[in-house]
Amino acid sequence: MLRRFISYYKPHKRLFFIDMFFALLISISDLVFPVFTRKMINEIIPEGRMDLLVRWTIIMTILFVLRYISNYIVSYWGHLLGVRIEHDMRRDIFTHLQSLPFSYYDNNKTGHIMSRIVNDLRDITELAHHGPEDLFISLVMLLGSFIVLIRIEWKLTLVLFSAIPIIIWFVISKRNRMSNSFREVRKKIANVNSQLENSISGVRVAKSFTNEDYEIEKFNEGNLSFSNARKESYKVMAEFASGIGIMSSILNLLVISLGGYFVYKDIINIGDLFSFTLYVNFFMQPIRRLSEFSQQLQDGMTGFERFIEIMDIEPDIIDRENAMELKDVKGDIEFNNVSFSYNNGKNTVLSNMNLSIDAGKTVALVGPSGAGKTTLCHLIPRFYEIEEGEILLDNIDIRDIKIKDLRKKIGLVQQDVFLFTGTIRDNIIYGDPEANDEDVIEAAKKASIHDFIISLPEGYDTFIGEKGVKLSGGQKQRISIARLFLKNPPILVLDEATSALDNETEIMIQKSLEDLSKGRTTLVIAHRLSTIKNADEILVLTADGIAEQGSHENLIEKDGLYAKLYKSQFKDLMQE
Ligand code: ADP
Ligand code: MG
Repeated sequence: MLRRFISYYKPHKRLFFIDMFFALLISISDLVFPVFTRKMINEIIPEGRMDLLVRWTIIMTILFVLRYISNYIVSYWGHLLGVRIEHDMRRDIFTHLQSLPFSYYDNNKTGHIMSRIVNDLRDITELAHHGPEDLFISLVMLLGSFIVLIRIEWKLTLVLFSAIPIIIWFVISKRNRMSNSFREVRKKIANVNSQLENSISGVRVAKSFTNEDYEIEKFNEGNLSFSNARKESYKVMAEFASGIGIMSSILNLLVISLGGYFVYKDIINIGDLFSFTLYVNFFMQPIRRLSEFSQQLQDGMTGFERFIEIMDIEPDIIDRENAMELKDVKGDIEFNNVSFSYNNGKNTVLSNMNLSIDAGKTVALVGPSGAGKTTLCHLIPRFYEIEEGEILLDNIDIRDIKIKDLRKKIGLVQQDVFLFTGTIRDNIIYGDPEANDEDVIEAAKKASIHDFIISLPEGYDTFIGEKGVKLSGGQKQRISIARLFLKNPPILVLDEATSALDNETEIMIQKSLEDLSKGRTTLVIAHRLSTIKNADEILVLTADGIAEQGSHENLIEKDGLYAKLYKSQFKDLMQE
């Protein structure tokens, strides 16, 4: 674990050593000051050594200038080091997240993943930047003052240093409580955040159910327990601060009284005593730093563990070693004895499925909700991996094709269109980021949405709101169709593309979809059977597999399940 953490420093070695070097300069210049005052009192004043006074003043001036330059460098470049490491980790985890399959996102909450990338990483940066520096400075300071003091007078030094274990014990025990209460605070704020996210994105539902008060109550509950957690954490912090204060007073008192006695007994002189009292005061500093370090180490390492946890999830759908590139595709698709289940066999959806679609043909899939139609669509682009059998594209097992090449050849239109927050142009050009304006316009024309777009004051630059809330369902679907015209895939999967639309819009969009599917192998899933009458072949999928297949006329003639479904829908239509 630690080694993986350290590996993030490697690209920034130079920054790291600069940081450490100047941190060392700071601690040395801090250590020298009491030595100077001691010299002043013991030698310079009693002996009238003005030459020494001048020399030491110059030395101290230089040291102070160096110290503040170092301070600047450590504070700026040191933070830069932390920022770069955080940047690298964030880049790595995002890259990794992009490689994880659908199943990962099925089983994890968005808010949760986001909090890992944002909050946990921030803990790691704190450690990455301050950790080594704090550890290093504190040890140099403690060791340095120990060496200086022991040379002045060892008994007093031992008294002083024997206090260290007690202080450390106090600090660590308080730190633990503090760290627990901080963790509690963080948990509570995460709850408030997720509550907020849920309530705000569901605000339209809340209003339609007039459940605003219910939402407010839920929010207040979280808000209150967040405040209470913070109350507790401030209490512990106050205890910690006063405890440290008390201990440093006791140490001061001890050194002055005992030191005064030593001066009286002529064991040390006044200058020695003075430097002792100075050291006591910045004695507490490295100890506090060390305790902070242990805290950062804890938090940062927990954060890093969670980071590694995600990084170690192997994306299970990846290119095979000798996966082949795919250039031109005819578009024959074949399922041979395909079986698939979700969650490692717990929920079998397809078993021994056989299906074949000839290039350029349109095959329709109908059947009750939950039969596995959407699942089947997701298997062709390898969003999920099949358990048994094989899926062939132009007689090649899709697992032998480079995933990116495979997915480039398949266009998917779904019922709930996802548009990105942005402009209309952004969303269409998503189909082919290298396209130019003319291509975008042509795609929009093919999807019959161009006229609508240019009727808007800002045309293609119109901002469509979060996930496209400013558009109607039909407009959103048309934009997603334009996006596919631009992508221009030879294979098309239409998964209930018009089910969410009203009848009239459906009929209009149906026309665009027919245009889109021209010359492409098309698998269409439809809820309303009237839209698939013209398919080359219709498959009826039930929980037990494919129950019937044939053309519309054949199936009606056969008077089986399809005919029954069709008649019942037809009757509904007549009644409308
Ligand atoms: P259809 O599209 O025919 O209505 P689906 O393919 O969406 O059916 O779903 C088939 C079955 O698989 C359902 O029982 C559903 O609960 C289950 N299912 C769908 N998606 C997932 C998923 N991501 N994880 C686990 N089970 C799923
Ligand atoms: Mg479905």
